Amino acid sequence: MKKSLLALAAITVLGQSCSPRHFLKEVYNTTPSNHLVFNNQKGLVTYIKESEEEGVRDLQRLVKEVPLEEAWVYVPEDKEWWEVGRYSWEEESSTQASLNMALLEILAGTSRETVQYHIHPEKALQSLYAKNHGEDNDPNGLMPWDFFLTYASLPSSLDLYAALLLSCDVKEQFPGRMVHFKVASPLGITEYTPRPEAVDKISVEEGLDRQFLLRTAVVLTYNMIDVQAKIKNIALNPNSSAVLYSDDNFEIKFMAYPK
Ligand SMILES: [Zn+2]
Repeated sequence: MKKSLLALAAITVLGQSCSPRHFLKEVYNTTPSNHLVFNNQKGLVTYIKESEEEGVRDLQRLVKEVPLEEAWVYVPEDKEWWEVGRYSWEEESSTQASLNMALLEILAGTSRETVQYHIHPEKALQSLYAKNHGEDNDPNGLMPWDFFLTYASLPSSLDLYAALLLSCDVKEQFPGRMVHFKVASPLGITEYTPRPEAVDKISVEEGLDRQFLLRTAVVLTYNMIDVQAKIKNIALNPNSSAVLYSDDNFEIKFMAYPK
């Protein structure tokens, strides 16, 4: 199924004189919209045309309004946003979104550069916090809400794992294409694009060796006190940014929302 969709992408790209992604509107049941929206309807894909700056303003609003995770791919060369989150749900200790991998790969393969965005919505975080930490603020020395909120600005280990896996996949199938990864949370945008050298190193391995590299790469050793102070400070200054963490596999950078 995956291969036939990719073949379709390649054939249609050759036959198109307009946007190489125009055919997707016929392949998928799409609904155009003026702004990014939360859509949990299976079988329906939303897309919009707007700049990354305008999209980030939508994300800033959506993290306050929507109940569950959602994901999009932004294509800079055509200023297009495609919804790649298929449906979302809440679990005991996290919220999850299932991704439309076929669409993700077509977008990555038909664009020089793509940016994969997802959100960590405030309502889902509040619900998780209440479930896991009790309604009373810090009764037993547990993580206070503002610390939890800062923590939620960081990509989860599953986010990092998925970013490495997709980067390896894109490198193998569409060499030279670049995929960036960003998460929007209540305090700002965090970029966690894997380093190209790390993707090179992991993608030459197979089987258990690849699994081992992937699993060790997503274990980050943050100094949380330091990271929390940085995020709080940046969030207060619109459009400012700073590197939160850096190792051989990732550089994690946090950007405040515009004013
Ligand atoms: Zn996430």
